Amino acid sequence: MQSRALLERLISFPTVSRDSNLALIEFVRGYLAEFGIEAELIESDDGRKANLWATIGPEHVAGVVLSGHTDVVPVDGQDWSVEPFEMSERDGRLYGRGACDMKGYLACVLAAVPKFLEAPLSRPIHLAFSYDEEVGCLGVRSLIEALERRPVKPIACIIGEPTELRPVLGHKGKLGVRCRVHGAACHSAYAPRGVNAIEYAAKLIQRLGEIQTRLAAPERRDERFDPPFSTVQTGVIEGGNALNIVPAECRFDWEVRALPGFDPREVEEELKRYADDELVPAMRAVAERTSIEFEPLQAYPGLGTDADSPVARLIQTLTGRSDFGTVPYGTEGGLFDQAGVPTVVCGPGCMDQGHKPDEFIEIQQLEACDAMFERLARHLAS
Ligand SMILES: [Zn+2]
Repeated sequence: MQSRALLERLISFPTVSRDSNLALIEFVRGYLAEFGIEAELIESDDGRKANLWATIGPEHVAGVVLSGHTDVVPVDGQDWSVEPFEMSERDGRLYGRGACDMKGYLACVLAAVPKFLEAPLSRPIHLAFSYDEEVGCLGVRSLIEALERRPVKPIACIIGEPTELRPVLGHKGKLGVRCRVHGAACHSAYAPRGVNAIEYAAKLIQRLGEIQTRLAAPERRDERFDPPFSTVQTGVIEGGNALNIVPAECRFDWEVRALPGFDPREVEEELKRYADDELVPAMRAVAERTSIEFEPLQAYPGLGTDADSPVARLIQTLTGRSDFGTVPYGTEGGLFDQAGVPTVVCGPGCMDQGHKPDEFIEIQQLEACDAMFERLARHLAS
């Protein structure tokens, strides 16, 4: 099957992250079986979803991973002019949810299977198709754990998120945290007798702002990224019931987008120290049963692959491009990299179209990706 026909099939499975991806995974497993390739499924705990891992070529040689997620973001509340889960064509573009993010890449990987078999490969190619990427790179973690138990580690991983096939060597990591401030309520006429949870939350948020200022200092910048420093922001806050009650509860959600090489948990540690050493003692001086809690929401590591590394040279060979870039969004790449598999991001389509109504991919991008995999087959055959 050609990449275009495969994309049509893949789009027809509505693999929104909250729903099962098993129908798509079974289709891929069946497709591979026709070529005599046995796929391994790594199921989620509830059995509603699965990662797929398959190897083409010699088993016990270090190979190249082609990695992509099978889930897509929802279409709820979006104004689509075409059916989101039925591929359609207009002006050289293929429309449908996931067309660029990132079923286009998966379609090209599958379309290349016969070429990989014909090569024949002296190093294997591994297919790593995951679930639950769009909700925090969750699914791929069990696939990577299984990978870490294998005797031979892959030499490279190509994450096919849409970069218009520009080789991308880096992105920021992310840490999301929820803070709950448990204060003590009282009539607001006696405000000093209560512990105002909103006001203590504000002190914590203020500290996050100070940390941001430090993180943006010139010596901490990396100009490959936009913005060129780690960022901190508070995105949600909720607290209080009425103006005449000192609020007992306040919660807020904040995140760090960290340059590769900077551990965002440092920010959390600093905020915890501030809470433990200064704020909580002051709160307890007024009311004993008060506290500040930290609850993890989401985390994935950044990616910062060296431009001189073998994986960067590999992707340069495959794309003919050395204008290495970075992307503002996160990928599963940081997790592969953390597990010792050198990783780059390079895939067809443009993220400008991702997550939006009328998502599409240019047919020309699919063809260019097909050509990239032909070069990969030749490269790994030699
Ligand atoms: Zn994606």
